[in-house]
Amino acid sequence: MKIIKNPLQIQKISMELIRKNKSIGFVPTMGALHSGHVSLIKKSVSQNDITVVSVYVNPIQFGPNEDYKRYPRPVNDDIEICKKNGVDYLFLPSNETLYDKDFSTYVTVDKLSGIMCGVTRPVHFRGVATVVSKLFNMVMPDRAYFGLKDYQQYVIIKRMVKDLNFRTKVIGCPIIREKSGLAMSSRNTYLSPEAKEQAVNIHKILVNAKKSFNSGKNIDAVIKETAKLLSAIENSEIDYIEARDSNTLQPAVKTTKNVVIAAAVKISNIRLIDNILC
Ligand code: AMP
Repeated sequence: MKIIKNPLQIQKISMELIRKNKSIGFVPTMGALHSGHVSLIKKSVSQNDITVVSVYVNPIQFGPNEDYKRYPRPVNDDIEICKKNGVDYLFLPSNETLYDKDFSTYVTVDKLSGIMCGVTRPVHFRGVATVVSKLFNMVMPDRAYFGLKDYQQYVIIKRMVKDLNFRTKVIGCPIIREKSGLAMSSRNTYLSPEAKEQAVNIHKILVNAKKSFNSGKNIDAVIKETAKLLSAIENSEIDYIEARDSNTLQPAVKTTKNVVIAAAVKISNIRLIDNILC
């Protein structure tokens, strides 16, 4: 596995791979890799000649009072995990090489970025779409792998790829969970053992919501009931709990065929997201 730090160098490597007709799979991450990330990496390795993983904690997708500074950065562990799982190139850019001091070009995916997580994280998806488009311009992947855990991000990136004519196919990968059902996340390391026990309830409650919805209960009633259960978790604070069309992220109505129920909940002040496809 080669570690590349320079954007021009990874771009050169990718151009050479494309010239040789090698398919490139790409897994963008913020590091602190866990089994969720590994599932994406494995899929890429199985579907492409070459797999590129990026580890980069992107400052412009964090709001001023968010966890940019304390986000975990166990880079040596990440290197080992990538090596072990068949990654060919690990891209580790720095803020200085990605963001010129006069940087001023941003990608905004309208409509989809101001809803759900975008309500309390107004700059988040602009930061994500901008960095992902920069990374796509460098890596030029045939396929890019995104977890359905960040469901809104997945839909936004698909929209962006279509709108901006990237050559990349976006592949959504299932949510990997701990045995307890808690969705794996680099941010789970912030949870105390007690908070983790409470956090497990989020998935359980979403599973029940899906059951109620699929048994014919009205979606508004399901969401109301689910909100009640989520707010009954000890030390919890709901950011949102919503039912949306899983393709368009428009609010789900009676006639919506494919529904995603998505939630962001703070447990002991740690913000966690999860969702379930119905
Ligand atoms: P992050 O490092 O949190 O930016 O995540 C990088 C990629 O891994 C994103 O596409 C995430 O959706 C995906 N991911 C994170 N956690 C999980 C999980 N538990 N299951 C599946 N994919 C995940």
